Amino acid sequence: MTKVTQGEDLLTKDKDYLWHSMKPYNPNSTLIVEKAEGSWVTDHNGKRFLDAMSGLWCVNVGYGRKELADAAYEQLKQMAYFPLSQSHPPAIKLAEKLNEMLGDEYVIFFSNSGSEANETAFKIARQYHQQNGDHSRYKFIARYRAYHGSSLGSLAATGQAQRKYKYEPLAPGFIHVAPPDLYRTSEKVNDKATDLQSVNEIDRVMTWELSETIAGVIMEPIITGGGILVPPDNYMAGVKEVCEKHGALLIVDEVICGFGRTGKPFGFMNYGVKPDIITMAKGITSAYLPLSATAVRKEIYDVFKGSEEYDYFRHVNTFGGNPAACALALKNLEIMENENLFSRSKKLGTQLKEDLSTALADHLFVGDVRGKGLLVGIELVKDKATKEPLEMGLVNKVIAGCLQKGLIIGKNGATVAGYNNVLTLSPPLTISEEDLAF
Ligand code: PLP
Repeated sequence: MTKVTQGEDLLTKDKDYLWHSMKPYNPNSTLIVEKAEGSWVTDHNGKRFLDAMSGLWCVNVGYGRKELADAAYEQLKQMAYFPLSQSHPPAIKLAEKLNEMLGDEYVIFFSNSGSEANETAFKIARQYHQQNGDHSRYKFIARYRAYHGSSLGSLAATGQAQRKYKYEPLAPGFIHVAPPDLYRTSEKVNDKATDLQSVNEIDRVMTWELSETIAGVIMEPIITGGGILVPPDNYMAGVKEVCEKHGALLIVDEVICGFGRTGKPFGFMNYGVKPDIITMAKGITSAYLPLSATAVRKEIYDVFKGSEEYDYFRHVNTFGGNPAACALALKNLEIMENENLFSRSKKLGTQLKEDLSTALADHLFVGDVRGKGLLVGIELVKDKATKEPLEMGLVNKVIAGCLQKGLIIGKNGATVAGYNNVLTLSPPLTISEEDLAF
């Protein structure tokens, strides 16, 4: 069989047997990737692409790291599985390491995906309030345009109508507010938290809904899948203050922003706030194996230690905290530290944003270039004065043009339902300066 025949065979079988996630049915646009090294992936025809999205914003240390494969292999040989209703050393060590990274106030619950980490956070928050005698607190405030996952609770928290359409009703109790959008609203980066309309709106919504019904707020430090919305510097501190005023918990979704993506170990560290619950996935293993975590402040955990029947967290996750995934995650975090990838992300991201802003300043369709660390968005508009989003046909042409030249980028935004007019870049934190200038 020649290489080409093999390729055609794979495409046919892919079309016949594999149900792809997310994109509309189009068998002709499928990229079948066979190999990957560093920041580059190779398709089944031998064509190479620079993966400026790190897969799905997740291969933070780059592809082909043998030490990660070895860490998983060694652990699988020694002890492949034991449930976390009991315990095992890789999970203990990883929980200790994450707690150290987070500032020594958290206990860790392991799952397998970002969606599950968020579901876990919602259940912990509701039960925490119940056990504190706050029996009516069940609602969560989330933001429009944010993505929090595909399961019925995390999708309910998601603020993108096009992802929910035809799947509703989802989990009840999720209320959405507008996120800060420095490109489209009059809020300024240095505004005081008390002057921010986006913070005051959360305060008002909690009052209108009755404070004693609110369990928490879920937010990403920077909205990623909703178009790289970097908030004003005081926004997160303002939201935390509002949460405290109304007795609600602050849940921070670090599924993309965590593990160096924004130039800090975790995104919230850019804003000087201590969240009550932190969810993480993707970069925790650089996506070499599935793993996610829900970190919970110790005072919250303590409420689950009571001796009443059903005081404990009655939540099972068979695969969560798999020993090989935990061993691999520890090695992944070691690589991040040894190679200074958090500060590297900050330095290279600042450079990338500056270079793109300069190069695209006069481009007819480029309305805004924004981001933090190696997380950058380019908002495409039809008209720079009205900021009307560029039609999807043209956005798709840009993506296809990049792909043809060997560059994988993303598109997001949800600026208007169904309009993903923000090009996204989220390369491996190990990307070379030469590749960054692609
Ligand atoms: N939260 C955020 C911010 C995400 O971007 C995602 C996925 O992209 C999720 C949660 C859900 O993660 P998963 O796809 O691992 O369930």
